[in-house]
Amino acid sequence: MPRIVVIGAGLSGLCTAHYLVRNLSDAGKEAEILLLEADGVPGGKMRTIREDGFRMEWGPNGFLTNKPYGMELVQELGISARLAPSSDLARKRFIFSGGTLHRLPETPPAFFRSNLLSFQGRLRIAWEPFAPGPPENVDESLGDFARRRLGSEALEKLIDPMVTGIYAGDPDTMSLRACFPLIYDLERKYQGLVRGMLALKRERSRQGVRSEMSAGPGGVLMSFDEGVQTLSDVLAGNLSEGLHLSVSVERVERRGEGYVLLLSEDGQREEMSADIVVVATPAYAAARILASLDEALAESLAAIPYSPITVAALGYDAATLGNPLDGFGFLIPRGERRKILGALWDSSVFPNRAPEGKALLRVMVGGVRAPGLAALPENELVAMARSELRDIMGVGAEPILARTFFHDRGIPQYLVGHGKILERIEARLAGLPGIHLNSNAYRGIALNDCVLQSRLTAGRIAKSM
Ligand SMILES: Cc1cc2nc3c(=O)[nH]c(=O)nc-3n(C[C@H](O)[C@H](O)[C@H](O)COP(=O)(O)OP(=O)(O)OC[C@H]3O[C@@H](n4cnc5c(N)ncnc54)[C@H](O)[C@@H]3O)c2cc1C
Repeated sequence: MPRIVVIGAGLSGLCTAHYLVRNLSDAGKEAEILLLEADGVPGGKMRTIREDGFRMEWGPNGFLTNKPYGMELVQELGISARLAPSSDLARKRFIFSGGTLHRLPETPPAFFRSNLLSFQGRLRIAWEPFAPGPPENVDESLGDFARRRLGSEALEKLIDPMVTGIYAGDPDTMSLRACFPLIYDLERKYQGLVRGMLALKRERSRQGVRSEMSAGPGGVLMSFDEGVQTLSDVLAGNLSEGLHLSVSVERVERRGEGYVLLLSEDGQREEMSADIVVVATPAYAAARILASLDEALAESLAAIPYSPITVAALGYDAATLGNPLDGFGFLIPRGERRKILGALWDSSVFPNRAPEGKALLRVMVGGVRAPGLAALPENELVAMARSELRDIMGVGAEPILARTFFHDRGIPQYLVGHGKILERIEARLAGLPGIHLNSNAYRGIALNDCVLQSRLTAGRIAKSM
């Protein structure tokens, strides 16, 4: 029986193994499927820390229903009853600008009423249908794209915080095409964003779906009653003896027609043979693992950088806060020169993240904007986050709980040239039959993207067998 080894049990590795089991069984094919994880727990960045009745997300908050993949997986797993949709407050997002929190206008009329942007800035956005078209054969940065279509002020106050909220990145270095392929296509297909959004709205209403043009992300943010970790726990539980924790893969070598993995388990070195290998680790770890197999491949993988980010979870007695936290939270444009990137008001969006009468905020620190701040010792980071919350939201209360979660290399950055890196990786993989790469480092960082890419990877493998 052929052996398929998946390396890394984050969402990408767990889902790849899940879809492999399903696809192979549907096709009446047999294989031994093993999933090896260096850490003592599965889930990678998906982890929910439960303490004193608080449920603190280590990384992701949830997934959106604007793409169907997460919800389809939940249905397949039979865990829809454990889902927790976000409250309506999730649609109320704020941007901190000029010393005040401004509600992010959601609809065109609200946008023209809002004073988040100057009158000229709003007019410039209204001029979007007449903006110059995309440059030929250029991997345009998000910053250049936004300046060209929407103007500098929109870049500064809308696009920069959005890129910070998703990637903790810098729009002037990131690739529009790699980060937001749908927007890239929309502009080309409809010669503009407003035209494109209107056309999509018309298409949806023809299909009987009511939709508004919105500056916020579409769809509903979903999590689970017990936090996002529910998803990885269920996937891991289904794999039972196929999942091996605390096993780190050092490298993969070729042996005959197949491969051999060099492992380290409890300080012991072991070997494991495999016919097919899926490397579902971050790109920098994949570079190390595959370096002895193909140096050029490893170089391309190592060229994908990551931004560091720390999540500071602060729990409060709601009565002491002096702020109703009626919204999703806020993001801060870099021009404001604050020390935090923004904060999510978790218990407003998912009430059971905090016990009755308590509130939970998560403050984001670091990113490419301020990498050094993400690495501060916990006490300094918490003091800094508190002082920022005091200035920005008027929250001076003493938290009853404070925890920090440091992601040294937290979020992959799809920089200008990312597409070329992917092409080079594909070209090298063509010479390594049976080796597959799948993680958030390549074609989408959202949980939905990880689910889709895992499905596609498993489908390709099942077809090749
Ligand atoms: C702070 C933060 C907030 C986020 N918020 C959201 C959000 O709200 N919504 C959303 O959709 N997405 C969000 N994301 C993104 C999302 O969490 C990730 O894209 C996704 O979880 C990545 O999954 P993955 O499996 O590709 O990688 P990872 O989760 O990084 O998993 C990789 C796994 O490989 C293992 N590994 C590494 N090296 C080895 C080795 N040598 N041998 C064996 N195993 C190894 C690691 O231990 C890890 O478990 C957020 C990310 C962060 C950091």
